[in-house]
Amino acid sequence: RKGSVMIKCRFAPSPTGFLHIGNVRTALFNYLFARHNNGEFHLRIEDTDKERSTKQAIDVIFDGLNTFGLEYDGEVIYQSNNSERHKEVAVDLLNSGKAYKCFHTPDELDEIREENKGKVVSKWRDVDSSLHPDLPYVIRIKSPSDGSNTIHDIIQGDVTINNKELDDMIILRSDGSPVYQLAVVVDDHDAGITHVIRGDDHLTNTFRQNMIYDAMNWNKPTYGHLPLIMDSDGHKVSKRTGAASIVDFFDMGYLPITMMNYLVKLGWSDEQEFFTKEELINKFDINKVGSSPSRLDMKKLNFINGHYISETDDDILVDMFYKEYICNIPKEVIKIMMPSLKVRSKTIDEMRSMVEYLDFDWWITNREDLPSKIENIKSVITKTIFDDILEFSNNDELMSKLKKISEDNGIKLKDVAAFIRYTICGKGISPPLDVVINSLDKENIKERYDILHS
Ligand code: GLU
Repeated sequence: RKGSVMIKCRFAPSPTGFLHIGNVRTALFNYLFARHNNGEFHLRIEDTDKERSTKQAIDVIFDGLNTFGLEYDGEVIYQSNNSERHKEVAVDLLNSGKAYKCFHTPDELDEIREENKGKVVSKWRDVDSSLHPDLPYVIRIKSPSDGSNTIHDIIQGDVTINNKELDDMIILRSDGSPVYQLAVVVDDHDAGITHVIRGDDHLTNTFRQNMIYDAMNWNKPTYGHLPLIMDSDGHKVSKRTGAASIVDFFDMGYLPITMMNYLVKLGWSDEQEFFTKEELINKFDINKVGSSPSRLDMKKLNFINGHYISETDDDILVDMFYKEYICNIPKEVIKIMMPSLKVRSKTIDEMRSMVEYLDFDWWITNREDLPSKIENIKSVITKTIFDDILEFSNNDELMSKLKKISEDNGIKLKDVAAFIRYTICGKGISPPLDVVINSLDKENIKERYDILHS
């Protein structure tokens, strides 16, 4: 019945050992689109490159989906298991005359390309099989010789190419192995995929893949090609230009829920600022995804992460603090400080850098010098006064001591605080001063003053 076909999407990553944030966004959009429409979301591992498709590389994909909670329907499909079926389709096309055996040698093909502006025009396209030599061959699909081809893309709109741009693509190599374009089409068709949502780097593939759908008389899926993610300089986000893998972002201390909220907003917009996964499923509308490239905006990312960090359980944050991080700061100390750290940090990395001062060795070798304009405050905050500042029973008491010093000497309160902060923490950003002072041994704090100011 018309209109009642269930939506079936898929995420079809090739295991590379590296899950690019663009791929994660592709998975997320497929997932949200499927769930929003009560459809299905399938996972297909495109593992035909045996060398790259190690267990480890495949686990990176599972881990990524797991961390985001993008659960898939049914069994995982491993593309390499389907190669017999892919070959069968190539042979079908051969038998129906939609494809042909091509016996050109690599040298001949070079010459042909040179004569035809890069295009392959095989002389074997219409040669009767009785005239075929007993030589190695590839199977090529016959490209349409005229007309044009239009994709009604749900994100890009209508995209048209002239069929003359297509040549007779190889579908089966001379060693009998199917090419990627064939595998994708057969697997999508056999799984009943209704919507193919993927990066727009696949747009040209789509026209080539459609030749196979047409030749097999199969229904084509609806396509949606997502614009690429660019960095702030307008380059495609890649390993070379900085963080590109989702794991890089997790390692820097961005939370999964942050990445989900952030990635979904790269391309799709809504007035609401923060979403749970369920809210996204309810609200997400693929038709509102824009077609222009999205820019990675670290400020926005930090803003979102700051929000979620402040809402996350202290214990979870303490665990994240120590994950993949080597330091000699006792866990009890971080536990005590976490409530004040979490409202001041946009990332876990920021927390780490805020408490580096706890490590005296770090302070000895890496601290920043006091800015020159507060350096001379030491003539006001002498050793005796400094020692007295360290004795307080609550933050109000500490603050009134500092205020008094500020008023009595005509120094801004913030400069008084900065003097103490730089002295103890070796930098201008730290947790609140009462927390800082309580986090260390008094003798150690006094030693820092002595080293710097006497
Ligand atoms: N395996 C392809 C990739 O990782 C995706 C293929 C597709 O989505 O059609 O880029």
